[in-house]
Amino acid sequence: MPYNPALLTRLIEAIAATIDTNADEITALDQAIGDGDHVINLQRGIHALMAQREELSQLDWATAWQKIGMTLMSTIGGASGSLFGTLFVAMSKAAPDHAINQYTFAAIFTAGVEAVKQRGKADAGEKTMLDVLIPVATYLQSATMVDFPELLATVPAVAIKGMESTREMIATKGRASYLEKRSLGHIDAGAKTSQLMICAIVDVLTQQ
Ligand code: ADP
Ligand code: MG
Repeated sequence: MPYNPALLTRLIEAIAATIDTNADEITALDQAIGDGDHVINLQRGIHALMAQREELSQLDWATAWQKIGMTLMSTIGGASGSLFGTLFVAMSKAAPDHAINQYTFAAIFTAGVEAVKQRGKADAGEKTMLDVLIPVATYLQSATMVDFPELLATVPAVAIKGMESTREMIATKGRASYLEKRSLGHIDAGAKTSQLMICAIVDVLTQQ
């Protein structure tokens, strides 16, 4: 994607809006099997990004992702702060010098997700944000014969399926793991917010 200052600003605004709109539902999810603070943690990070969005939008993608990751790590707190922060910092490190397109982005996003797996010592099937991030990364990597509009049309369904899949999982990482089998039947809060943010990004890119 070419350098486009307005795009990053709109992405940050769309992410803030979807998390604010769904805040009560996210809190209810984290209250059921966690400690209920996930949306407040995340909003702290997103509000910091909102305050920086003009400055961020002047940067190239790799530099912006690095700064976004550092801001998320230092403001969110909770398990999700270091994990979402790690995602962006690792994406920045993996970003090539040449232009970012759907193919290079698939590799960049996958590198980010790999870093989250290492940071959280977690993998697919443990009822976390990774149950959304991993299938989306896998889909992006596999979509070599797909054009950009079709890619955008497919990603939300992949993210929603991943989010829904956490309902039938027993948590083995994070606070929800303390509940063991009682975590069954609930959607993971971090999977929900990851799905919402991915869907908001796709909406903005589709309207481009
Ligand atoms: P905390 O659990 O410290 O209160 P949050 O409520 O902000 O932090 O975030 C909880 C979310 O973080 C969970 O819903 C889950 O998606 C994610 N999470 C927790 N631990 C891990 C882990 N080890 N690996 C990946 N994701 C995790
Ligand atoms: Mg929590």
